[in-house]
Formats: sequence, structure tokens, C-alpha cells
Amino acid sequence: MPRIEIDEVRCKGCGLCTIACPHKLLVLGDKLNLLGYLAIVMETPGKCTGCAMCAKICPDLAIAVFK
Ligand code: SF4
Ligand code: SF4
Repeated sequence: MPRIEIDEVRCKGCGLCTIACPHKLLVLGDKLNLLGYLAIVMETPGKCTGCAMCAKICPDLAIAVFK
């Protein structure tokens, strides 16, 4: 099953991946990371298709996709 891993420390909460995901699976979380940003979280992991749109758009290389 495809899945992603989010590097919460690298994420700066810009939200680009939340827009890029065609299934809107990513949302900003409610906890600050070490740098003081709200890192994203995956809402429904079972629906990830592994398309990697989120990883491609992330300027901080904070998302890894595994198929
Ligand atoms: S790999 Fe695709 S479906 Fe999965 S979270 Fe990223 S953009 Fe969404
Ligand atoms: S695009 Fe990258 S830095 Fe921006 S919210 Fe998503 S994971 Fe975080």
C-alpha cells in the first residue's frame, strides 16, 4: 500500500502540499514543530495513491513517498 513519511522538523507549514494532493489527504496539524511551525499531518493514510505530487511540490523535501 502506498504511503508517505513526513519529516516534521523540515516542514515549515507552507501548505503547498495540502493544495497539491489530488485527494486532499494532507492538512496542517495543531502542534508546533521544533522550528515553531505547524507541520502537516496525513488525515487518511489508506487513501494515498503514491502519486508523489506532495513530495514534488515541497520546497523543503519534507515528504518521502513509498509505493
Ligand atoms: S502521494 Fe499523492 S495521494 Fe499520497 S498524500 Fe501525496 S499527493 Fe496525496
Ligand atoms: S510543502 Fe513541505 S514544507 Fe510546505 S507544508 Fe507541505 S511538507 Fe510542509
